[in-house]
Amino acid sequence: MADITEYDVKYLPGVGPSRAKLLHDELHIHTVRDLLYCFPYKHIDRSRLYYIHELNADMPYVQIKGQILSYETEGEGRKRRLVAHFSDGRGVVDLVWFQGIKYITSRYKLHKDYIVFGRPAGYNGRINIPHPDIDEVDGLSLANMGLRPYYSTTEKMKRSGLNSRSIENFVQTAFSRLEQPVEETLPSYLLQELHLMPLDEALRKMHFPQNADEFGRANYRLKFEELFYIQLNILRYSRDRLQKYRGLNFAKVGEYFMQFFTQNLRFELTGAQKRVLREIRKDVGSGRQMNRLLQGDVGSGKTLVALMSMLMALDNGYQACIMAPTEILAEQHFKTFTEFLQGMDVHIELLTGSIKGKRREQILTGVKSGEVQILVGTHAVLEDTVGFSSLGLVVIDEQHRFGVAQRARLWTKNDQPPHVLVMTATPIPRTLAMTLYGDLDVSVIDELPPGRKPIQTLHQYDNHRETLYRGIRQQIVSGRQVYVVYPLIQESEKMDIKNLEDGYAQLCKVFPEYSISKVHGKMKPSEKDVEMQRFVSGETQILVATTVIEVGVNVPNASMMVIENAERFGLAQLHQLRGRVGRGAEQSYCILVTKYQLSAETKKRITIMTESTDGFEIAEADLKLRGPGDLEGTQQSGMAFDLRLANLGRDGQILQLARDVATRILDEDPQGVNPQNAILWKQLVALRKTHVNWSSIS
Ligand code: ADP
Ligand code: MG
Repeated sequence: MADITEYDVKYLPGVGPSRAKLLHDELHIHTVRDLLYCFPYKHIDRSRLYYIHELNADMPYVQIKGQILSYETEGEGRKRRLVAHFSDGRGVVDLVWFQGIKYITSRYKLHKDYIVFGRPAGYNGRINIPHPDIDEVDGLSLANMGLRPYYSTTEKMKRSGLNSRSIENFVQTAFSRLEQPVEETLPSYLLQELHLMPLDEALRKMHFPQNADEFGRANYRLKFEELFYIQLNILRYSRDRLQKYRGLNFAKVGEYFMQFFTQNLRFELTGAQKRVLREIRKDVGSGRQMNRLLQGDVGSGKTLVALMSMLMALDNGYQACIMAPTEILAEQHFKTFTEFLQGMDVHIELLTGSIKGKRREQILTGVKSGEVQILVGTHAVLEDTVGFSSLGLVVIDEQHRFGVAQRARLWTKNDQPPHVLVMTATPIPRTLAMTLYGDLDVSVIDELPPGRKPIQTLHQYDNHRETLYRGIRQQIVSGRQVYVVYPLIQESEKMDIKNLEDGYAQLCKVFPEYSISKVHGKMKPSEKDVEMQRFVSGETQILVATTVIEVGVNVPNASMMVIENAERFGLAQLHQLRGRVGRGAEQSYCILVTKYQLSAETKKRITIMTESTDGFEIAEADLKLRGPGDLEGTQQSGMAFDLRLANLGRDGQILQLARDVATRILDEDPQGVNPQNAILWKQLVALRKTHVNWSSIS
């Protein structure tokens, strides 16, 4: 028997080459299988009929039965529309089309029974139904119309007459042509044990459920499977790696660490810092390679933890390296470390793209010979010309700008892989961390150093400029500095730059007595650095910027962050930006400036920001509000990560179950030889070739 799920959709009756091309281009549907996995975005209950006199413009969807009495075209040119007067014998309602007039009039006959489905709208005090769906009544019993699927389509598809209904028909045809059930992708013992619907049934019920419960069970099965294979892949990968590599053993705590701790460290470590250092210490002394994600809010003291971890490496005769995503940050780390290590005999160097020629040669030679003990740098340290003598620990700061592929290059710098500590200030909710970094152990610094005053966050409408300017002046008069940030969104980049330029001009006019820096992504890196440096050094009082300043810049004297068009930023990003202030001991402020008209969701976001300074709380709220696809950090990192069904904000329990089951299977069948599990490994291989970007999930 042929398995038609592998066939090109163009061979499916009713599709044909041109529609197949549309499906392919617009929805990435190639095969019949892709079509079966193209799930409706909603179902609507179509078992109830309304009378026309019952309709009002507030109803979401209605279904009526009757006949078209006459057609009429109204208006001219682009405003031209087709109106059908439709009656159920008791009342009349207008059906309206703005496109496809010829097609409609030839397709739907006068005085013939139809079922019309659509969303009523009010127009000139009357009700009409724009662009309704129309079905012939013959052979269509309302009872089996039940829950009807609705599929996403694009403008281009609609223009070619390919709508939700067409897709529904294709899917129906596909199922009716299958000669055998869709091949199962989970072992039967799992289906039984977890009471999961078989794949074939689940796929059918995703499209055509009899009721909400059936849909729910189908959806559950597919969500579970989706999360399960991600977990299985991650866990298997990390076990492989543990087996393959022995970790470097940092057996002792020595001179460097102790000297730093007792003499150089001028403050008490927070409880959280101590706990995390113990966790790291345990890892690097375990004989296995450390892969640890260190999460902590901006300013929670991660950098210090990184430095002390590097000293552990030095104490055991190894080199350490820290990578930052930008030159400015690398320089900042270098400066911080140099100050921290004052009076200690540690050779530390900075390597960035702009360090060239003889200086560069010197550093490279020192790294190669082992004389350089700590190397601070940017991506430049990944280059092949950089060879270490004995690299023991790599710290990656603000990890989301580093791809996994880049991380992997570090491995090639040693026979033995170094320990890896990944630091991020983007708090990642637990469910997401489990999925994205499933093989990393996670440490959390959930405590800020003492003496910090929480940042005060205020919301201001953009028509109250005077108050805003007064606030800014107040800060500068008392010797502080101010950030003003504008959103930069790709699609309308020109507009965004204009906003920023206008804002800059305006500020120059309002504050002629102050110097103002301006930084945006379209500038050359060297120009950007110069402007930034002017602000860092205190030469300018105001920095007008796009989100390029988001990551890690540290200007403790800056006490106010003004975010323009705050409604256009996500929660995580707002929180990151806000974290640029509040780094000194004095009170800092974050002003969220928005337009007056805000959607309910935006209002919620702004309220969360004004009420909470807790990064994790905000990240959880963000995940709930937007879903993980939009979460910053996941997008920036190119972790194009397409969960079709599961929502990490809501499906935490399914994820936990999936992880537990995957763990158990790997424990029971570590070699993957149990014939019952053969289906799992086959499926993993198949998935690696398809939609999930496995390589980016590590
Ligand atoms: P992060 O990297 O997490 O954003 P940093 O390590 O840059 O945070 O720390 C922010 C500031 O707090 C730095 O100036 C650092 O020296 C200081 N700091 C770190 N730990 C402590 C502590 N335990 N007590 C007081 N200040 C601290
Ligand atoms: Mg930092």
